[in-house]
Amino acid sequence: MDAPRGVFDNEEAATGESGMGATIIDGKAFAAKVRGQVAEHVARLKAAHGLTPGLAVVLVGEDPASEVYVRSKGKQTVEAGMASFEHRLAADTSEADLLALIDRLNADPQVHGILVQLPLPKHLNAELVINRIDPAKDVDGFHISNVGLLGTGQKSMVPCTPLGCLMMLRDLHGRLAGMEAVVVGRSNIVGKPMAQLLLGDSCTVTIAHSRTKDLGAVCRRADILVAAVGRPGMIPGDWVKPGATVIDVGINRVEKAGKQVLVGDVDFDSCAKVAGAITPVPGGVGPMTIACLLANTLTAACRANGLNEPEGLTA
Ligand code: NDP
Repeated sequence: MDAPRGVFDNEEAATGESGMGATIIDGKAFAAKVRGQVAEHVARLKAAHGLTPGLAVVLVGEDPASEVYVRSKGKQTVEAGMASFEHRLAADTSEADLLALIDRLNADPQVHGILVQLPLPKHLNAELVINRIDPAKDVDGFHISNVGLLGTGQKSMVPCTPLGCLMMLRDLHGRLAGMEAVVVGRSNIVGKPMAQLLLGDSCTVTIAHSRTKDLGAVCRRADILVAAVGRPGMIPGDWVKPGATVIDVGINRVEKAGKQVLVGDVDFDSCAKVAGAITPVPGGVGPMTIACLLANTLTAACRANGLNEPEGLTA
């Protein structure tokens, strides 16, 4: 989930060298590069195979933040040369109608990826709906089959935000094998899949959460520290090992000097003094999420047609 654009005072924050010691990882530039790679691959698929990858996004109700996300996903899908199919359903849509739409999308050969925008209205069972999606088209990687495949180290569709974090880490470090990684947060959409991906790259992984004792000491062990909590600035600089890479997944809306701004889970100023590299908020992990959604749609289209997967765009 990236933040809706044009809402927060600091969303265009510049990235680059921090002047504080740490390299600032420019997620906006990295995401643009990934989108460019996707677009190039899509152009080759069209030319060589007459294949246009297609992404269907389903939005139920009128949540303003979800509206912005869906618009942004549709726009970036088209910019990458892929087909975008938007399905906007009324807030009181029945579960049966939503499941029937998913069945139709599962059967549609022009649709390679299906994303149901969360959260769903309360009367709909999100687990049931997500698990109705064909796992091969589950570009969010939330289907229970994909969760199981990732957990057992098999080829799967990988959740977009952790995939984006992994791409940034590989780009920075090359091989991650043997590194000590700490993931703070154990949600199904970020913390757990992030930990699985780092384990898949042979890191030594610790997952911390709200019951972890002496979280500061646990974090100080990390060569790679991933924060996915949802608490503004909760990780201070003295929890960071000198030279560590800090990936801040948190997106928190706070008020500063009477304005709404976005901040991460990491106290950026104190952590940037100690870390070797750090992602800012905004402009770090956020932009990678939609870029990885496009990458997953491309991967799904290649797999569905028995073609080679795009290199460097999968786990
Ligand atoms: P969840 O609320 O689902 O999970 C939060 C996790 O943080 C839980 O595992 C919880 O532990 C843990 N936690 C809460 N308080 C503490 C604490 N004091 N110390 C240690 N751990 C704690 O959040 P998500 O994983 O969905 O999202 C996390 C953040 O990432 C949010 O800010 C969200 O907005 C952002 N996000 C950003 C995305 C992006 O594109 N950049 C995409 C998705 C999310 P426990 O399990 O014990 O309760």
